[in-house]
Amino acid sequence: MALVVQKYGGSSMGTIERIRNVAKRVAKTYDAGNDMVVVVSAMSGETNKLVALANDISEFPDNREYDVLVASGEQVSIALLAMCLKSMGYKAKSYHGWQIPIITDNAFSKARIEKIDDTKIRADIKDGTILVVAGFQGVDSDGNVTTLGRGGSDTSAVAMAAALKADVCEIYTDVDGVYTTDPNICEDAKKIEKVSYDEMLELASLGAKVLQIRSVEFAKKYNVDVHVRSSFNDNPGTMVTKEDKDMEAVLVSGIAYDKNEAKIAVMQVPDKPGIAAKILSPLSEANISVDMIVQNVSAADLTDFTFTVTKADFKKALAITREAAKGIDAKEVVTDENISKVSVVGVGMRSHAGVATRMFQALAKEGINIQMISTSEIKVSVVIDAKYTELAVRVLHDIFGLSGKAA
Ligand code: ADP
Ligand code: ASP
Ligand code: MG
Repeated sequence: MALVVQKYGGSSMGTIERIRNVAKRVAKTYDAGNDMVVVVSAMSGETNKLVALANDISEFPDNREYDVLVASGEQVSIALLAMCLKSMGYKAKSYHGWQIPIITDNAFSKARIEKIDDTKIRADIKDGTILVVAGFQGVDSDGNVTTLGRGGSDTSAVAMAAALKADVCEIYTDVDGVYTTDPNICEDAKKIEKVSYDEMLELASLGAKVLQIRSVEFAKKYNVDVHVRSSFNDNPGTMVTKEDKDMEAVLVSGIAYDKNEAKIAVMQVPDKPGIAAKILSPLSEANISVDMIVQNVSAADLTDFTFTVTKADFKKALAITREAAKGIDAKEVVTDENISKVSVVGVGMRSHAGVATRMFQALAKEGINIQMISTSEIKVSVVIDAKYTELAVRVLHDIFGLSGKAA
């Protein structure tokens, strides 16, 4: 008998019919003799609606109440799935994050899981009950409801699998696995059979939303093999696992894109020590992460300081930056929300030079201007005008041989 953790995303839970389909799949695994913990997301579109409600009622929604609101989408899903399983004759029980409890820190809307208490889970499993646990939700040490950031149910599931030392961790979604790029924008995308934790970390952090980045961090830290597969068929999916020799042979394993960032530039700042810290410290104090950063070579002792943040943090980040800009005599703060980040990822880059050059040449040939660049040993990312995203992804997918066409 194995302990299986399965996670079903919003698309798999999107309608009553789909929830019935999930219940059937859960029942099949249970009938095969497995113990089961099922983690589910809100029905697709529901969390977006809740976020929109928060933004309608207040320009800067209160952080604590925001989490109380957005966590409610998962409450509907757990109840519906547990009801469905019970009506099919199975023992099932729904749980909120706080009922388990899944303990997190108190960083509302981007909380980190600190501990999962397995007492209730073990008792239910012993009793033959299928647990249906709300993804995305946690509770801090003061009893406040917290949420784990968009896409956070993946993290709930992997953290659950790690805490329970589960034998199997399956993430069910609307695609067959992790592809060489988003199969919904590039029809030549190919399914990857196995991907290393490090590559998946890069892909996830660079916008491949098929897995939330923190779920991959958990998987790597606790050595959980994560099987990403479709809830609409029985095809084998992608194993996210430890790096092995075969993987190193591949130069580029995937192309990711992210349209979810916005650019803020502080123009004509006096070029003095401490400027970067003065702009960035208030942002980190507000728990806003900055992604790419560029500081121009100074002209006439003035410089421009540009960075990107997620669109979710943009309004707040802009208000904070405007305040900071006043204190350092900057001329103005300008913004651009129509940007996208396109990245080439592969562990093979560690031992091969030239990926960045090939990437830049290919984009130049298409007339795509590069606004910002950032690299690590296994990725190269560029910020470009959002309207060229799909074109850039397809071109890069081709020239690195991922489409199966000659590079
Ligand atoms: P769920 O609702 O199951 O959590 P998500 O929408 O969060 O599903 O993630 C699945 C989506 O991720 C796919 O529909 C696909 O459009 C997108 N995606 C982006 N990059 C990739 C990739 N490299 N491989 C697979 N899917 C990707
Ligand atoms: N429902 C949450 C979201 O839409 C969590 C998830 O889907 O994983 O972000
Ligand atoms: Mg998701």
